[in-house]
Amino acid sequence: MSATPLDDFLHAIPKVELHCHLFGTVRQATFEALNARAGSPLVAEEIQGFYTRGEKPVGVLRVLRALDAELVRTPDDLRQLTYEYLQDAASHNVRHAEFFWNPTGTVHESGMAYRAAQDAIVRAIRDAQQDLGIAGRLIAAIDREASPEAAVEMVDWVLANRADEVIGIGIDYREVDRPPEMFLEAYRRAREGGLKTTAHAGEFGMPWTNVRTAVEMLQVDRIDHGYTVVDQPDFARECAERGLIFTVVPTNSYYLRTLPPERWALDHPIRKMPGLGLRIHPNTDDPTLHKVTPTQAWAMMVRDFDFSIDDLRGFMHNGLDGAWIDERQRRDWHAQWGAEFDALRARFSL
Ligand SMILES: [Zn+2]
Repeated sequence: MSATPLDDFLHAIPKVELHCHLFGTVRQATFEALNARAGSPLVAEEIQGFYTRGEKPVGVLRVLRALDAELVRTPDDLRQLTYEYLQDAASHNVRHAEFFWNPTGTVHESGMAYRAAQDAIVRAIRDAQQDLGIAGRLIAAIDREASPEAAVEMVDWVLANRADEVIGIGIDYREVDRPPEMFLEAYRRAREGGLKTTAHAGEFGMPWTNVRTAVEMLQVDRIDHGYTVVDQPDFARECAERGLIFTVVPTNSYYLRTLPPERWALDHPIRKMPGLGLRIHPNTDDPTLHKVTPTQAWAMMVRDFDFSIDDLRGFMHNGLDGAWIDERQRRDWHAQWGAEFDALRARFSL
């Protein structure tokens, strides 16, 4: 493996990760072991298919469902998945990782009690902090394919079992026909209970109005994906003025599937967002399924979307402004990470 100075540099820079799903981080060997333990409900070719990223990748939602329905069975499984994710992230100098987990599927499909599941994840977060120095934070995510009542139930679980490491809520799974306004009550309760909020919106080519609904009705603190905001420049300007952070995903399958390969990098909305004044930050989303590491997600911003090293420095600061950390830490990291970034840039002559 011959890494270029750019790869070495991007590996070394301090990072936050704000958009990553626990079930999308499962190592293939771990997935195979869980499958074998369950009596192999999935055949080998199927698993191989999940972990192959072709030119027209299949969605990862099927894999995530299989984990809840068949493979993840005990709190200790969640502890292992969390620890392995944080280990993998820390190996790319991710120092603060806010990651999603969908309690609804785990509780109703895997049959685990919410409290036991959350405790196991929190235990792994604390162990990883101690062993590896990475700060993990859990975002309980609404499964938007389930009912709005299930979303409220999920928020109530989080509020009844508060832990410092569980900092907010999100929403994910298929956005088609499941617009954000369906989940107004769950977001209202979360906000009133002191939780931070984010939402997947404007993914899968869904209209920019879903982003507006998330911002104005759900009053989210940041947006995950949000690409179709580029379709409405007036609204994009409003988001820019608010300083809203968009966690973007260079490997997002929707554009890989729908744009012709020779136009993909040129027509991808990520390329246009900063030009509209929007503040973006690159993330892995489902790293083992997308075959991407934090370092590679940052490298794609340069290689595929032509952003400069100065742009990346701005993205790093966007990540710190979007992170759910206290103001003192934010100030310290802005100063320290800026200096570290510049020193590394000089060392790698970039
Ligand atoms: Zn996502």
